[in-house]
Amino acid sequence: MILRYYADAEIPEWHDRTLRLLRTLHDEHGITVEIDRVDEQHGPITDFPGEVRYPTPEDVYERDLKRNRELNQAIDQTPSEAFKRYGKLDIAGNIAVVDDEGTVRWASTLPGYADGYRPGVESRTAMDFLEDIAASPSNRLCVECLSLLDGDENFCPNCGYEVP
Ligand SMILES: [Zn+2]
Repeated sequence: MILRYYADAEIPEWHDRTLRLLRTLHDEHGITVEIDRVDEQHGPITDFPGEVRYPTPEDVYERDLKRNRELNQAIDQTPSEAFKRYGKLDIAGNIAVVDDEGTVRWASTLPGYADGYRPGVESRTAMDFLEDIAASPSNRLCVECLSLLDGDENFCPNCGYEVP
């Protein structure tokens, strides 16, 4: 599985923090990380331990999000509600969990931190998700195989890894 960052988050601090967390996840957990830079707003990304691509938001929406049934089941909104607000694509700043077949299984629908929105949206924000999985132990994602967890497992249903 792969962690994919749809860059750039609008706020420079979120963008920089996301890059640092992705490096940590790669270095400490061996997680494959990559960037689809759909909206380049900040400086060049150097020394990133994964692929950096420059697709258009339309390409990413068609490939990853649109009519994605797996994603539809994993998030509260439909992908079009979440990423195509008022007919305009709104993808940059989010994080996606991509399986080995290339299907997006989960994606944040709010860039940044929950406290920038309203209480109770931690499960939907990119930064809270990344910080949670970078700070082991995480009950949201198996750091061994990147399977999504629902928070009360003792072991990963996919690979058997014991959740600490
Ligand atoms: Zn696992």
